[in-house]
Amino acid sequence: MTDFAQLREAMVARQIAGRGITDPAILEAFQAVPRESFVPEGLREFAYRDSPLPIGEGQTISQPHIVASMIEAAEIGPEDRVLEVGAGSGYAAAVLSHLAGDVFAVERHAGLAREARERLAALGIGNCAVIAGDGMAGMPDEAPFDAILVAARSETVPDALRQQLKVGGRLIIPVGGEDVQQLRCIVRSGEHRWDSHDLAAVRFVPLLPGTVAEDGGRTASNHKPARDLTLPQLIARHRVPLPPIEDPAFADVFDRFADKRVVMLGECSHGTREFYEARAAITRRLVEHHGFTIVAAEADWPDAAVLDRAIRHRPPRHGAERPFRRFPTWMWRNPVIAQLMHDLHAINRDRAPDRMAGFFGLDIYNMSGSIEAVLAFLDETDPAAAAVARERYGCLTPWQSDPATYGRMALNRGYGECEDAVIAQCRDLLEAALERDGEAFGAAMNGRLVASAERYYRIMYYGGAESWNLRDEHMADTLGHLLEHGGPSAKAVVWAHNSHIGDARATDMGAVRGEHNIGQLARERWGDDVALIGFGTHTGTVSAATDWDGDREVKRVIPSRPDSYERQCHEATLECGNERFLLVPGADEALRARLSHPMLERFIGVIYRPQTERWSHYSDAVLSRQFDAYVWFDETRALEPGGHEPHEGVADTFPFGV
Ligand code: SAH
Repeated sequence: MTDFAQLREAMVARQIAGRGITDPAILEAFQAVPRESFVPEGLREFAYRDSPLPIGEGQTISQPHIVASMIEAAEIGPEDRVLEVGAGSGYAAAVLSHLAGDVFAVERHAGLAREARERLAALGIGNCAVIAGDGMAGMPDEAPFDAILVAARSETVPDALRQQLKVGGRLIIPVGGEDVQQLRCIVRSGEHRWDSHDLAAVRFVPLLPGTVAEDGGRTASNHKPARDLTLPQLIARHRVPLPPIEDPAFADVFDRFADKRVVMLGECSHGTREFYEARAAITRRLVEHHGFTIVAAEADWPDAAVLDRAIRHRPPRHGAERPFRRFPTWMWRNPVIAQLMHDLHAINRDRAPDRMAGFFGLDIYNMSGSIEAVLAFLDETDPAAAAVARERYGCLTPWQSDPATYGRMALNRGYGECEDAVIAQCRDLLEAALERDGEAFGAAMNGRLVASAERYYRIMYYGGAESWNLRDEHMADTLGHLLEHGGPSAKAVVWAHNSHIGDARATDMGAVRGEHNIGQLARERWGDDVALIGFGTHTGTVSAATDWDGDREVKRVIPSRPDSYERQCHEATLECGNERFLLVPGADEALRARLSHPMLERFIGVIYRPQTERWSHYSDAVLSRQFDAYVWFDETRALEPGGHEPHEGVADTFPFGV
């Protein structure tokens, strides 16, 4: 007969103490639990091997050394209340029960939970409850806990678990994708503060939502074949839950895009606070940890340049206008952008100038700001050239404050009055930029902008595709110049509306109206080096105007239509309980296929007209081709304009008082 006591002693000595875990209490606890009672009959002889073992339902009992590492990191004291998520066989729970005051172990398979409960009872363990349930939600009724151990991997740390830690409590969880995870130790160091560090690379089975009943009847959809699932169920199955945006770990999930050269972040309205906050968090992460130095937005170049100087610790340009005064001001004059600028300013403080992150505008609407910037640059560097430029741009002067009128005039006369002049000026500036560096690059970008804007306003009156295309080509070219200027390793984050960043070929824009956009052009140019990430919502409030140039109003967003992608995602939220998630259509073939049928998608710009919502704001799209990923916020709030807190080390007026 196998001498289990002897095998156990050898296991503790070799696999646990031998690998540096020396706390006598832990070693005693392992010595006290007969591991052979926790594995299937036929596998008992292998119970003390240095490996995980199957326990039924496709699950495994973890390797002793891993269990020991988790317990050591959790620093369990004799009075502690401990939660284990993923009780499985009950083995780890049994070891824990020898170290802690009370142990609560949750297991999603009701059958496994019952067996574990029976084993613990047979061993006379009285301070450990095994509960059948979904441990992703923790155990709110028993919280808070001194320690929480999760025996299944997760892409993100479930927020419920963090919240159920006592201050000072420790959460141990394997975080990462399928192949390998980091065993992470998260310490709740304050009411609103969590610190974390990684312990080791590990491999665990996945943490899955829902529960599985004893008779095999599924209370959740996880085991049905994909073809038997509704689209919302399929979305729920493949979604990656996102923590609250203010959680420091919010953006970690987006590390999967960090190896791209260009990451484009969309929005399905220009006035939704969550989209701004999420994009700011993702941008900070990409800039701080992944070498992105270009933050380029659907904002006007000369206006963004004012903020750019400030965040890169350069003095303001004399005579520069206060930025972002043009409708719709809330798009950039808002507390989220103010905070992001402060953060980039702080990140840049310790960086050499060529490693600093910059903020750039891709859009063409502030033509007069660009003219002014070009003239100011030439006045300082080359007065003779400034005189020539003044003459050339003089052609546009009468129209500067109202360039649309220039367009109407040019249309009436049937030609582009100022075209040759602005193109000549642009060419001169580009040539100068090739010879000089620094400020000359910005001046050349402004010169390009004036040339694009002149054409834009001229053709605007033909309407539709041509002017749209020109604007998006200008944006794509500007992005190209920024990347080129930044050198071969330069990487960019782009902020623009879903209608700009979602591949136009996958929507009515391309299919029906002959429009292309920056997302499509970027894919054509940089291929797989681009990630297009759309953002969507079901309902809530939004900042928008009723007419162009109108006042900002906070409007209610009508709940999404039944025939829309938004409704599919909303129902997925109801299915899985996650209000926020990331969906990667390419992560699963069945999901991709189901997201490849056209469906309605909502587009809210700076104008929102709920009365005519179907025709003003919905359009056909094929989500799986439009985006590489889609970020979902089930309910969202209006972006409020203005206001920012003063910060140490920068002028009170920064960034908007300048
Ligand atoms: N600690 C266990 C190891 C179990 S493996 C032992 O010592 O045997 C991980 C377990 O987590 C599996 O049994 C799996 O069914 C369970 N699990 C996965 N997702 C879960 C969830 N959301 N809630 C509870 N248990 C979960």
